[in-house]
Amino acid sequence: MTPNSAEFTAMVTGQGLNGSYLHRFKIIPNSTCPCGLKQEQKINHIILNSTILENERRVLRNPIVRTGETWPLTFEQLTRKHVKTFRNFARSIDFSALFIRRGIKQIVIIIGAYQFCQPLTKFYPTSCSQG
Ligand SMILES: [Zn+2]
Repeated sequence: MTPNSAEFTAMVTGQGLNGSYLHRFKIIPNSTCPCGLKQEQKINHIILNSTILENERRVLRNPIVRTGETWPLTFEQLTRKHVKTFRNFARSIDFSALFIRRGIKQIVIIIGAYQFCQPLTKFYPTSCSQG
């Protein structure tokens, strides 16, 4: 079994790498995505709408449409039926591009590392930072 990346975990759980979540914990001042659509930056917005990720979305959409599926798919279909493609999509995203404020990139990396560790050591998340 392939271990899930921090990005993949964040996308599936909706925790960490989106404006909605970071705003709830007062890490960023508002939850609107900087892409210009003036939508709240929830996971669904990142996957389906954000114009910042138009190129990355092709990594997700094209292989799925080629299998005969109708786009857009539900979150369940993406994370269950097309999990491999969804994982590639999550990996292709530069999450720092989704946040405009300086300093956010570092926070994103910290949260990402924390979430990557969580499934490995539930109670001591910082102890798995090596390797
Ligand atoms: Zn957006």
